Amino acid sequence: MSATMILPPATLGMLGGGQLGRFFVTAAHELGYQVWVLDPDKNSPAGRIAERHFCVAYDDYAVLDEFAQGCAAITTEFENVPAGTLDYLAKFVPVRPSAAAVAVCQNRIVEKSFLRDHGFPHGPFIAVNTENDLKNAPVELFPGILKVARFGYDGKGQATVNNREEALVAFGHFKGEHCVLEQRLALDYEVSVVLARDEQGNVRCFPTGENRHTQGILDVSIVPARTTACVKSDAEEVAARIAEKLGYIGTMGVEFFVSRGRLIVNEMAPRPHNSGHYTIDACVTDQFEQQVRALCGLPLGEARAHSAAVMVNLLGDLWYDGEHYHEPDWAKLHAIPNLKLHLYGKHHARPGRKMGHFTVLGEDAARVQEAALAARAAIGIKDE
Ligand code: ADP
Ligand code: MG
Repeated sequence: MSATMILPPATLGMLGGGQLGRFFVTAAHELGYQVWVLDPDKNSPAGRIAERHFCVAYDDYAVLDEFAQGCAAITTEFENVPAGTLDYLAKFVPVRPSAAAVAVCQNRIVEKSFLRDHGFPHGPFIAVNTENDLKNAPVELFPGILKVARFGYDGKGQATVNNREEALVAFGHFKGEHCVLEQRLALDYEVSVVLARDEQGNVRCFPTGENRHTQGILDVSIVPARTTACVKSDAEEVAARIAEKLGYIGTMGVEFFVSRGRLIVNEMAPRPHNSGHYTIDACVTDQFEQQVRALCGLPLGEARAHSAAVMVNLLGDLWYDGEHYHEPDWAKLHAIPNLKLHLYGKHHARPGRKMGHFTVLGEDAARVQEAALAARAAIGIKDE
């Protein structure tokens, strides 16, 4: 056990104040900690339930000094916190995960190069820094997907490009942002592994989930994934080795493609992951409690799922009928006794914005899937 356990009523620092931060605050409160949140959004969902909300930019160094002085340890929920901020804070107080680990996951060029250099399974790609890189791109990368190297999320900053000409046009639209060009893979399905790793290098993987995306945004996660024991254990083993190579401390998510039967790493998230939300209701310890435990040097909790689970994301589209915004008919969901609803307290519903999720639980995986898809339809989510 760590000699440097941080115990309540210590104050923990959270960089970023979205729903992932909000769940962290709740988990930390349950264990007796206080939390300070730093996020420039005055309506930050996490900021509203934390002991203090520092509503400033991530590089406001005068405020970072005060933040570091008041926190026993600091973590993040937002992968785009400048690595320089994490490095600066780490001079005063433990920061987990480290700036170096976060930096790899922040930039798709660095991330894909990391996968290649360490021999992890990854799809064909090139870094695109100039038009010439596209002019010289191997022809087998087409049809491909051009993705900005930084600040993309939920399918934003991506263009499907059928050929070199389309790639050049798309690169122009990204206004000189550095990019990666990936081959567009034939996906059998997608899976992800959320795990936690502590200071001593112990790793606990949550059960592998199967993810369905709609328009580049996670729609549904199914646990256990409907795949072979072999794919599940390979995914967990690869995810654990990635965490180890990154020297990662905390909770992280690793997204995979299964393409023509082969497991391929898509990307890593240096934070709890949307596909791990099912752990809140279906696992002995959830991904946010693991984040608190890893941050504070406590032993990790058991990651076992005690139920089959299907998580459904609730996007802002559900609030919008094409003309007006109105509150969805929650009674339809409350009527289902094995359904757990989570709303994030965001002020404005916008199409594509993650507003909440629900998880359906049960012993029989097939029945849980049926019930979750029926609930999804009942609340008004349409299939494309
Ligand atoms: P984000 O950071 O927005 O999650 P991803 O790179 O994970 O970006 O892409 C979002 C989704 O788009 C993926 O989950 C997958 O469904 C699809 N996608 C991304 N890259 C590829 C690819 N190379 N081939 C096929 N589908 C892809
Ligand atoms: Mg992704």
